Amino acid sequence: MKIIETIGEMQRESDSMRMAGDIISVVPTMGFLHEGHLELMRVAKRHSDKVVMTLFVNPTQFGPAEDFEAYPRDTEGDLEKARSLGVDIVFMPNAIEMYQEGCQTTVRVERITQPLCGLSRPGHFDGVTTVVNKLFNCTKPHLAIFGQKDYQQLAAISRMVMDLNMDIKIIGVPTVREPDGLAMSSRNSYLNPEERQSALCLKKSLDLANKMFQEGTKDARIIKETIESLIKAHPFTRIDYVSLCDPMTLEEIEILKDETLLALAVRVGKTRLIDNCLIR
Ligand code: AMP
Repeated sequence: MKIIETIGEMQRESDSMRMAGDIISVVPTMGFLHEGHLELMRVAKRHSDKVVMTLFVNPTQFGPAEDFEAYPRDTEGDLEKARSLGVDIVFMPNAIEMYQEGCQTTVRVERITQPLCGLSRPGHFDGVTTVVNKLFNCTKPHLAIFGQKDYQQLAAISRMVMDLNMDIKIIGVPTVREPDGLAMSSRNSYLNPEERQSALCLKKSLDLANKMFQEGTKDARIIKETIESLIKAHPFTRIDYVSLCDPMTLEEIEILKDETLLALAVRVGKTRLIDNCLIR
């Protein structure tokens, strides 16, 4: 497994893989890898000849009051996991390499980045789409793999690729969960045992909403209120949003359709967790 830290070397390496006829996939990550990330690598391996994992904690997608400094890091452990999965290249530039002095270009996807996480994390998606664009230009992939756990991120990146005519296929991978249902996340490491227990309210909410829909409830307000009470009954929780929305536009809906996205963001203690599911 090659470890590459400079953009120039990464681009040259991708050029030679392309010259050799290899299909390249990229798996962007911020590290502190868990089974969810590893599943993305496995999907990448199945779909391509060469897998490039990027490892970069992107400062521009964190707000000033967010956890950039505290974000968990374990480079050695991550490299070991990547190696054991057969990743071909880990691209791990530092922030100075990625954001050279004087840079002043932002890639912004306008509408679908506004609701949900866009409301409480202003500028977050600009940071995400810009860095993903840059990572694509560094790694020159044919395919890029993202988790459906970050549904709005996946939607924004898919939109960006369409809008900018990028020749890259985006693959979304279903959320990988702990045995008790909690969606895996690097941020779960912040939770103390009591908070970890309360964090189960996210998955319970998804299950409850699904059950209500299957039993005939179509009124979004009723489902939302039921979920909000369920979450509030769990200690240490504070709701950021509970949204029933159109899976394409992310606009709130009043009556559930054949397919509706339920998206949640809940603070448990100081840790902000997200989860989602499609209700159909
Ligand atoms: P992150 O390192 O948190 O930026 O995540 C890197 C990639 O892993 C993103 O595409 C995430 O959507 C994806 N991911 C994170 N958690 C999970 C999970 N539990 N299941 C599937 N994919 C995930």
